[in-house]
Amino acid sequence: VWSNCLLFIKDNIKPQAYKTWFEPIKPMKVTNDVLTIQVPSKFFFEWLEEHYIKLLRVALVKELGENAKLVYDVKMENSYSSKKPHTVKFPSSNRKPFNSQGVTVPLEIDKHELKNPFVIPGIQKVKIESQLNPNYSFDNFIEGESNRLARSAGLAVSNKPGGTSFNPLLIYGGVGLGKTHLAQAIGVRIKDKYPERTVLYISAEKFTQQFIDSIKGNTRNDFIHFYQMIDVLIVDDVQFLSGKAGTQDVFFHIFNHLHQNGKQVILTSDKAPVDMQDIEQRLLSRFKWGLSAELVSPEFETRVSILKNKMFRDGVDIPDEIVEYIAKNIKTNVRELEGVLISLIAQASFNHKEFTLQLTKQIVDKFVKNTKKEVSIDYIQKVISKYFEMDVTTLQSKTRKRHIVQARQLAMYFSKRMTKASLASIGSQIGSRDHATVLHACKTVDNLLETDKQFKKYVEEITKKLTF
Ligand code: ADP
Ligand code: MG
Repeated sequence: VWSNCLLFIKDNIKPQAYKTWFEPIKPMKVTNDVLTIQVPSKFFFEWLEEHYIKLLRVALVKELGENAKLVYDVKMENSYSSKKPHTVKFPSSNRKPFNSQGVTVPLEIDKHELKNPFVIPGIQKVKIESQLNPNYSFDNFIEGESNRLARSAGLAVSNKPGGTSFNPLLIYGGVGLGKTHLAQAIGVRIKDKYPERTVLYISAEKFTQQFIDSIKGNTRNDFIHFYQMIDVLIVDDVQFLSGKAGTQDVFFHIFNHLHQNGKQVILTSDKAPVDMQDIEQRLLSRFKWGLSAELVSPEFETRVSILKNKMFRDGVDIPDEIVEYIAKNIKTNVRELEGVLISLIAQASFNHKEFTLQLTKQIVDKFVKNTKKEVSIDYIQKVISKYFEMDVTTLQSKTRKRHIVQARQLAMYFSKRMTKASLASIGSQIGSRDHATVLHACKTVDNLLETDKQFKKYVEEITKKLTF
């Protein structure tokens, strides 16, 4: 619908105007005769209403009929706006002033007056883009053992920002485990519950850059002042502050001010405070004042739920077998988990293919290849010993008992298949045998696989154990 509207609009206005005022618009959804579009700011919305409402109306009526309605979702979250989109009905002669968005102060800002990027003159409150992404919500954040503490602390904080002992709340953990998602979700929820509070999400990197700019531009005080007015400050990836003494210093002051005034601070980091390097002690000790909650790799069930949730949101249906295959093979990183799903959906739809296990395997392989740690010979021996319920020393021993010999041969066979080690090296690590013994073991296993069904089953089960 929207692209048809755009075609029509494009034909009727100057290219520059089209570029400025229509390209930035994002179509959000169409339901019956209501089109929702997202516009970057209030100012943008007002401009559209002022200059292009007739054109929009004609375009929309052409597409959706006489009853067409347009809903604007203003992509701006400042201290005045509530989350409700502003609805404009055609004809919009009696359109409401903007305060249906919860605006309390008229926003009459001449952009050219904004010499200082941080404070808007003439208005008591600061206009702050919270930089939150509503897609990162608690609804979309799947709960599991791996994130239970962090998640519930996050919920507690968003119910009572600044009013819990979790201040600061520090969320830490490895890449792609949901730190940004959770930190954002807290902000989004606070904004939802307390629209009048000023929430700001910022990466430590961007914070650093702003600070450096403020030094260059001689606006350091404004910079500090700006941050001190925030009610809920979310700083992502604070490990980035390592070794940056000046930024740490200014952050220390801002932190203290906010904390003393009961404002909530939420931090994320890829390391626990004890492991953070080149961060001043006084700052580290502040980080530890509240609660540090770790995100770890999600367990299998959570991985499956994350995939299913994403499928549901994307409106795709994929057989359980495939979902489980992905969840079994991608274990440590939720971003990769989603990455595989996205590639799968993309490949299947581009090539008009079914979701097959074969296609899935290809994609998973590609992802795993980049990150896979080599399975070690030690690990193989452990898994096989455990599988046959014996000690590793028994497996390595000189005994000729048939089931022990078989276990040993399997260890050699898998070591040959799954590691890059030479025959000699495999032999020496599995009870100091020579390379000929290993070669013989591999041949024996190959033969047994052809002839012995029970043996084949063992091999399949061990393969599974070794690969996830
Ligand atoms: P980090 O900041 O720790 O590197 P992100 O927050 O960017 O990780 O998460 C990576 C991706 O995984 C994001 O798309 C995020 O939405 C998703 N994700 C992480 N944890 C979960 C979860 N528990 N439920 C749903 N999605 C998750
Ligand atoms: Mg992140």
